[in-house]
Order: sequence, then C-alpha cells, then structure tokens
Amino acid sequence: MENWDLIIIGAGAAGLAAGIYGARSGLKTLIIDEKMAGGTTGDAPIVENFPGFAQVTGAELAEKMTLHCKKTGATLHELEVVSSLDLKGEKKIVKTNHSTYEATSVIIASGAHYREINVTGEKEFQGRGVSYCGVCDGPFFKGKRVLVVGGGNSACITTLYLSGLAAEVNVVHRRDAFRAENALVKDLESKGNVKVYWNTAVKEIKGEKIVKSVVLSDLKTGENKELSVNGVFVQVGESPNSQLAREAGVEAEEDGSIRIDINQRTNIPGVYAAGDVTNHPVRQIGTAVGQGITAALDAYSYIRRPYYRK
Ligand code: NAP
Repeated sequence: MENWDLIIIGAGAAGLAAGIYGARSGLKTLIIDEKMAGGTTGDAPIVENFPGFAQVTGAELAEKMTLHCKKTGATLHELEVVSSLDLKGEKKIVKTNHSTYEATSVIIASGAHYREINVTGEKEFQGRGVSYCGVCDGPFFKGKRVLVVGGGNSACITTLYLSGLAAEVNVVHRRDAFRAENALVKDLESKGNVKVYWNTAVKEIKGEKIVKSVVLSDLKTGENKELSVNGVFVQVGESPNSQLAREAGVEAEEDGSIRIDINQRTNIPGVYAAGDVTNHPVRQIGTAVGQGITAALDAYSYIRRPYYRK
C-alpha cells in the first residue's frame, strides 16, 4: 500500500490550493481527481472577481492553478476514481479504481455537481441539446436559439457568454428578479439578443433526437407556451459530492454539505473538507482557495505537530 502524509480528494480550486500548501510545507501530498484537474473553475466562461485577474477564462485560471500545484511537488492523479474511504483510524485508507493508499490526513475537496430541474425530457436530451456547462457546449449553438434556466450568478454568466455566440438567448427564472452580482445583471440587461421570462418555469423539454422546443409555464397565470429552441442550459445551482465521505462517517448537513469548523476540520480527527463540498455559505473560487489553504495548514499541524502548537 502506498503511503502519503496527505491525500486530497478533488483537484478543483480548493484541492489545488491545499496541494500547493501541503507540498510546500514538506508533506508528501497526493491529489486524486476523477476528472482532469481544475474542477468547475474550468467551466466558467469568464472570471472577473479572482484577485489579481481582472478578467480571465476559467480554463486559463484552472490551468495556471494546476501547473502551480504540480510545480510545488504535489503528485496529481487525474482520471482516477475514489471508490471508498475508511477514515476513522489513525491511518486513513483511500481506495480507488487503480490502487489503495494510506495517509495520515485527508482533505475532502470533491466539489459539487450541477443540479437538475427534473422535468420531462431533461434526462432524455442530456448531451443532445440539454447542457449544464456553457463553456463546454456553447460553441455548438453558434447562431442558434438557446434557453438558460436559473437566476443566480451561474445563469447570468452563462447567458452573457452565450449571448456572444447564439442568435438569441432566452432566460427563464422562477422569480421576478435575479439574485446575481449587480455588474452581471447590468451587463445582461445591455444585451440586445437576451430575453428574460420572469416568474416562469420549464415544464417540459421536447424534441426528436435533439432538442426542438420547451414548454414554459407562467407561474402567475398558469398559462403554458411552447418556445422553439435548439439548446437548454440548466444553471440552477449545485449539490455537494459528499456521498463517500458521509458513508465513511463524516457529518453533513441535510443538503449533503460537509459540516466544518473554522479550521476546516470535520468531525473525524485528521479529516478536513474544503470548497463547494462544505457548508461554507460563500461559493467562490477565492473562498474555495482560502478553505483549501486553511485545511492544508491545519493538516500540517495535525501530521507534524510542530513546536509552536505543542
Ligand atoms: P445559486 O446561486 O444557488 O442560484 C441558483 C438559481 O437557480 C436561483 O436563482 C434559484 O432560484 C434557481 N433554481 C434553483 N432550483 C431551481 C429549479 N429546480 N428550477 C428552477 N430554478 C431553480 O446557484 P449558481 O448560480 O449556480 O451559483 C452557485 C454558487 O456559486 C453561488 O454561491 C454563487 O454565488 C457562486 N458563483 C459565483 C460566481 C461569481 O462569479 N461570483 C459565479 C458562479 C457561481 P431562486 O432564486 O428562486 O432560489
């Protein structure tokens, strides 16, 4: 069994920041991610609020973080899937589809996955017009009519990105106002090819092999209307990827987000959580980075028990 000081599960902003601090502290640090490194940061069409970067694509920022992390000496295993965790003992056991590892401390930075709207046609047309990632799939809809569902920062950013590609972007939100940053809302209002349907829900996604239209329901009048679109981008928030951690005894809130203290500690000694998988109230790249750093520094203290903590 391979031995590590610190294993970090997830190579998004939180995991990569933890990796940088872990490796630089001299800890033998392994980061495992079932996808390529970068996490959901890489899906952001544009990032304008990460200090030091007035405007950068999510892909570029994610790549820079990944390269930085590798440079510090952390080992990164991409496309490796964690299958089970045994966290209660002195040594934490992490099993994957490739190997079994042992570590003194584990940081869960497994992020979150995109939430679905659970309407007829959503599952059927996933990958055939229904998407959860503007930057991944937006270019397929150049000059076409698309629909964005949601009213938060993600919905607004995706709408802005798509407005530069698609002929027409329709936004459907179940309330009468967005809950996104003011700068984004203002930008969105200035776009000539964006139309917002307030107090409206998607009732059904229809098509033949690919998406052809959506049925929208006016939540005030109850009236239904069919709108022809080529693509539907669902942007209604995220759910934490915490199942394996919860199965291993890590305590979580009702929504599945891992409960942490101010040092990112979970209820199990030596086990930390950072980023979108936690119950931290703010979900930003900057806060994920901060949480990852805090977790790695506390893990260092837990592992090495330095003189200043004795
Ligand atoms: P969010 O802030 O949770 O917003 C989700 C939106 O989807 C809300 O408007 C919500 O409506 C709506 N919604 C939820 N479930 C729905 C359903 N079943 N059907 C229809 N609409 C539904 O999610 P997010 O925009 O993905 O952002 C996630 C987190 O990342 C947030 O904390 C956000 O601030 C952060 N983020 C920040 C940035 C940035 O640049 N600062 C960018 C992206 C994300 P209600 O308003 O009615 O609840």
